[in-house]
Amino acid sequence: MKATAELVLKPGKERSLLRRHPWVYDTAIGRVKGSPASGETVAVRSHDGKWLAWAAYSPSSTLRARCWSFVEADRIDASWLAARVREAVARRAPLAAASDALRLVFGEADGLPGLIADRYAGQLVVQFQAAGVEAHREALLDALVAATGCADVFDRSDSAGRNREGLPAAFGVARGAEPPPRIAIREHGRRSWVDVRAGHKTGYYIDQRDNRELAAGLAARARVQLGRRVAALNCFCYTGGFSVALAAGADDVLSVDSSAEALALARENWQLNGLPEAAGQWQAANVFEALRALRAEGRSFDLIVLDPPKFAASHHHVERAARAYKDINLSALRLLAPGGYLLSFSCSGAIGIELFQKIVAGAVIDAGTEAQLLRRLAAGEDHPLRMTHPEGEYLKGLLLQRL
Ligand code: SAH
Repeated sequence: MKATAELVLKPGKERSLLRRHPWVYDTAIGRVKGSPASGETVAVRSHDGKWLAWAAYSPSSTLRARCWSFVEADRIDASWLAARVREAVARRAPLAAASDALRLVFGEADGLPGLIADRYAGQLVVQFQAAGVEAHREALLDALVAATGCADVFDRSDSAGRNREGLPAAFGVARGAEPPPRIAIREHGRRSWVDVRAGHKTGYYIDQRDNRELAAGLAARARVQLGRRVAALNCFCYTGGFSVALAAGADDVLSVDSSAEALALARENWQLNGLPEAAGQWQAANVFEALRALRAEGRSFDLIVLDPPKFAASHHHVERAARAYKDINLSALRLLAPGGYLLSFSCSGAIGIELFQKIVAGAVIDAGTEAQLLRRLAAGEDHPLRMTHPEGEYLKGLLLQRL
């Protein structure tokens, strides 16, 4: 057996690893001993030779290695990986009562850097987003099938991240049978169709599960409090998850998205939940323009959801993204009735909760309204944040009530 290759860091660059942060950038590496292949396990050492971590080498990425383990006695093999998968799946067991759409493995947070595994009823969908997990693809797939009892696994490794890792896109059946064109999932008593081939991410925004339930509760509360017809607006509705939730209390739900396909599925989800046809309105439009048009029409809403796509792809786009978030939040606040609720989200990892709150506060000021922050929101518990890896945080939200 050939000797394990080693990454020897530059002086001082061991600090983040001593804090168990899992990423090693190319700029931190002094020299490479041996010639590790893509995804091969390497030992990471400080400049003076101290062992720091086992990591997966990724020769073409600036994120040159991702750590598997900070325990020298560990051996990164199929049984070690299977144990990580079993633990991740077991930690989600308490969430099964809420939904059968769950994220079972969330990359770095679960100690499996770059691996995403989502469950939709009996179907698994995976993404191998880094060289390390790609190199162990078969072992990880075996482990997922064994840990879940799901025989069917679809690979959606078609995201941009693979490019940076020097990996080609991968798309198709990884284990078992072809998935059906649509899978029906249930979430907090509501149902949704999921298309694991063409849907966003692995098919569905699993991360918003608890926020959709919150929206349902607020709508039901508004119905009791207002004692009149309740109007809700769901912007960037995708397949209508928040729309169906809002219908728990709203008499009229207007949903806006620029994608005709997403809206078509949203309408079917409305029907799937047995909601009255007349209570749902659907608009294929750019939200930025639709909000202005609604204001020009003098419309107002008791509940508004803003769940836009990622406006800031990286740190370089923060300023432009901030302006876009400000714009839609300002427009939404102008449409919000006194006492009404705004659920405003950002899934841009480059924009932290503090900055996001500042942006929305700016919108409140410019709108000439007063509002209270009732809650800060985040992704569900199946998208945990590893305390040693703050970069894993991306979805954040604010629940505001207009005074
Ligand atoms: N809230 C959804 C997820 C939203 S994803 C859920 O819970 O499932 C973001 C959506 O915004 C996508 O459906 C995309 O088609 C839509 N979108 C992106 N830019 C848009 C724009 N400028 N105007 C309207 N919709 C837009």
